[in-house]
Amino acid sequence: MEIFLAPLKFYSNVLLERLVKELSNRFSSKIHVIDLKVNLDDFFSVDRRQYYSTQIIAEVIKLTDEYDGKVILLTDVDIFVPALTFVFGEAQLNGKHSILSVCRLHEEFYSGISDENLLLERTVKEALHELGHNFGLRHCIDWDCVMHSSNGVEEVDIKGNTYCRKCRTVIGDYKYY
Ligand SMILES: [Zn+2]
Ligand SMILES: [Zn+2]
Repeated sequence: MEIFLAPLKFYSNVLLERLVKELSNRFSSKIHVIDLKVNLDDFFSVDRRQYYSTQIIAEVIKLTDEYDGKVILLTDVDIFVPALTFVFGEAQLNGKHSILSVCRLHEEFYSGISDENLLLERTVKEALHELGHNFGLRHCIDWDCVMHSSNGVEEVDIKGNTYCRKCRTVIGDYKYY
């Protein structure tokens, strides 16, 4: 199993590099950065001023047959599904694809003060969370588990940064304890 990160309208190379390193420490799988030709503007909602994540995933599915593993699309744009104000990410349960937006993981979104380490910590948690859904995990009630659901950034910060023992057993190639 390999993990493919596809940045799209993702503006921080430093964050991307740090995320690759973090995931490499946690998985025995290879982590690759890939370039997908998707025009996110096709999925922009003029009414909401956000991008529709479910449609983006549907488009990415068409372009990723050649990649054998999990594909995480990374973006800085704000994403949504119709029932919710925003989402940090969306993933196919038991599937290959997910999308993660760091838009609302930036501390400056809330306080105006940038904090790169906090941004990395949040990004790693949410990347693990979406990957967990790809491996078939649903939300976990354990607050120490990265599969706990997060409706706001406070909840991202409170929850743990790795899978609980129960969730870990279903994640292939995970070597972090
Ligand atoms: Zn979730
Ligand atoms: Zn768990």
